[in-house]
Amino acid sequence: MAESKRDYYEVLGVGRDADEAAIKKAYRALAKKYHPDMNPGDAEAEKKFKEASEAYAVLSDPDKRRQYDQFGHAAFEGGAGGAGGFGGFDFNGADFSDIFGDIFGDLFGGGRRSGRAGNGPMRGGNIRKSIRITFEEAVFGCEKELDLVLKDPCEACHGTGAKPGTSPETCPKCGGKGQVVYTSQSFFGTVQNVQTCPNCGGSGKVIKEKCSSCSGTGYTSSRKKIKVTIPAGIDNGQSVRIRDKGEPGVNGGPRGDLLVEVNVSRHPIFQRQDMHIFSTVPISFAQAALGGDVRIPTVDGDVLYTVKAGTKTDTKVRLKGKGVPSLRNSQVRGDHYVTLVIQTPERLSQEAKEALRRFDELTGNTLRQNESVSEKSEKKSKKKGFMDKVKEAFEE
Ligand SMILES: [Zn+2]
Ligand SMILES: [Zn+2]
Repeated sequence: MAESKRDYYEVLGVGRDADEAAIKKAYRALAKKYHPDMNPGDAEAEKKFKEASEAYAVLSDPDKRRQYDQFGHAAFEGGAGGAGGFGGFDFNGADFSDIFGDIFGDLFGGGRRSGRAGNGPMRGGNIRKSIRITFEEAVFGCEKELDLVLKDPCEACHGTGAKPGTSPETCPKCGGKGQVVYTSQSFFGTVQNVQTCPNCGGSGKVIKEKCSSCSGTGYTSSRKKIKVTIPAGIDNGQSVRIRDKGEPGVNGGPRGDLLVEVNVSRHPIFQRQDMHIFSTVPISFAQAALGGDVRIPTVDGDVLYTVKAGTKTDTKVRLKGKGVPSLRNSQVRGDHYVTLVIQTPERLSQEAKEALRRFDELTGNTLRQNESVSEKSEKKSKKKGFMDKVKEAFEE
């Protein structure tokens, strides 16, 4: 009746003592080589694919493998059919999911369950939050507190979701695997389609009587305050990872992480690029001409800087080590670059005007000829210039 079958170990090309990993590896190679979608219309390849899939379905399942080792093919005979390929063998429960997942990707369309291997321990999801800090807090680091609703395994049912005293039962539809494998005949042959079990939603367990404390979810939520340490040197858009403050894991898996994205507010006078800080500092014409000390605001406080006599406008000054600390090593700091901008005086007392006229004469210029013109334009320019605002910010 049934055609004579090759030995499953022989089919996969592994020894009888091959471990799970070796069996999986062997099958993966064969499946890749002979899959009908890779060999359209090739009946021989299709046959090989079916044969390998059948061998894998048995040898990858410890119970079935034991039966096979003991009884050979006879272990699975006597069921329905027997003539075509898979014979009476029941494929439900065989775990092809991860193999097809990583070999074939989207080949099977939307049928595959996403991202988890059966119903084993699974890490909880990450939680993302954002936090706003000041420019200085980013430079020097800070501690913040985050108000967060966190899930915890329900204490009444220990996270099972079942009424205390009862326990979740193995899902009858998927046998606890959390997924079901549908086999369907297509033009190219038999296709396995792995889907999350609709009965248990992939958990592999069903709850008959729900825990009243958590309504069967297995979790309780509570508001928590989480301390977030923001390291010195963090930049806008970077995130801080706080381990194990994410969603709880499933089936004993570890918790996910909390990822806190940092938004840094703009500073009225400082700009930042990587580890360096930039700013503009106004100096008076007299300071520029005669030289002298200028107060330069930095993140470390004001620095007295001695301007050389004859300084031109837009002179760049580098204040070494007054920039932003490196995230990796806070001992290493960037620099602060200052642009000195000479201000043209706008509101002058009569006395100051006289002094300027005198200065102009002494330096051989001809201001007096244009006096009437300059008096007029002076009245128009009473509006506060940008540099005045900057200056006010400095002089608080
Ligand atoms: Zn509960
Ligand atoms: Zn199920």
